Amino acid sequence: MPLARFNKVKLGALPTPLEPLDALTRLLGGPRLFVKRDDCTGLATGGNKTRKLEYLIADALAQKCDVVLTAGGLQSNHCRQTAAAAAKFGLKCELFLEAVDGVPAGQEYTTNGNILLDRLLGATIHKLAANTDREGAMIHRAEAIRSDGGQPYIVPVGGSNGLGALGYVACAHELLQQCRDQGVQPDYIMLPTGSCGTQAGMLAGLVAGDSDITVIGVNVSAEEAAQKERLQPVLTECCDLVEVPVPDESRIICDDRFYPPGYGIPNDGTLEAVRLLARNEGLLLDPVYTGKCMAGLIERVRNGVFAKDDTVVFLHTGGSSALFAYKGIF
Ligand SMILES: *Cc1c(COP(=O)(O)O)cnc(C)c1O
Repeated sequence: MPLARFNKVKLGALPTPLEPLDALTRLLGGPRLFVKRDDCTGLATGGNKTRKLEYLIADALAQKCDVVLTAGGLQSNHCRQTAAAAAKFGLKCELFLEAVDGVPAGQEYTTNGNILLDRLLGATIHKLAANTDREGAMIHRAEAIRSDGGQPYIVPVGGSNGLGALGYVACAHELLQQCRDQGVQPDYIMLPTGSCGTQAGMLAGLVAGDSDITVIGVNVSAEEAAQKERLQPVLTECCDLVEVPVPDESRIICDDRFYPPGYGIPNDGTLEAVRLLARNEGLLLDPVYTGKCMAGLIERVRNGVFAKDDTVVFLHTGGSSALFAYKGIF
């Protein structure tokens, strides 16, 4: 796999563990369940953006940039990890945090969790109203920085372009190696999908590794058609970078049944999944991404979608720092 020719910096404590979920497997009486612990990447409470940022920060440094701009929702895990990565490499960081409609917007949501950490990590915060053009706001600010003699680098929302997705090509490679070492043969990988870099990189990495494991993306913010449209350019760009064919339609699964009523708004299944994993596995999920993905996994097991002897790997993409922002609903 031609990953070695891309620059990267070290941000993550890698490889992350691949662990059995024995208690959950027993409880659900279903397929063999494992968790890939990308919540343990180590960067300022960890998560999936760490792997993408290894490539993106390297690119910013190669371009001699001195300030990193990125955007997300008010409780963005991506923004928090970007702030940490920038701090580690002596770069300034400006975050564009958009209000999210319909979230339980108590004081905790606007001051605790990831936003507390963003401030602690030294990022400058620009607050945006809901449904603002975030890219436009960043481009506008980048021009101002440039005219003041600075060198801005815009990290796309979620770190999701082809370059960022290379982090999940590397993760696929790492996971396949761990599976060989541990004698685990996954039939499915389940992961939450938002800005799509994780799903795109994982798919490209599996193609590169000659693996036909089925990737099930569980949408967190869009209906199926819109999510697939979002995925396509990231997947194409990533596959081009690693020189593998773009996987065909049949391998692209974006399940939109678990995110309503909307991004960042947990439903009953989300809360059940977060509680179930906490109490039976001592594992902290989050109310925005992994809780919804786990609800999708649980529903599939209960409805007999998986065979008893199937093996399913749940990709834990992090996010538990947001729990503190959702205190009211727990
Ligand atoms: C960003 C994020 C995701 C979604 O990953 P994408 O690459 O944006 O699709 C999933 N889980 C957590 C915890 C995240 O922060």
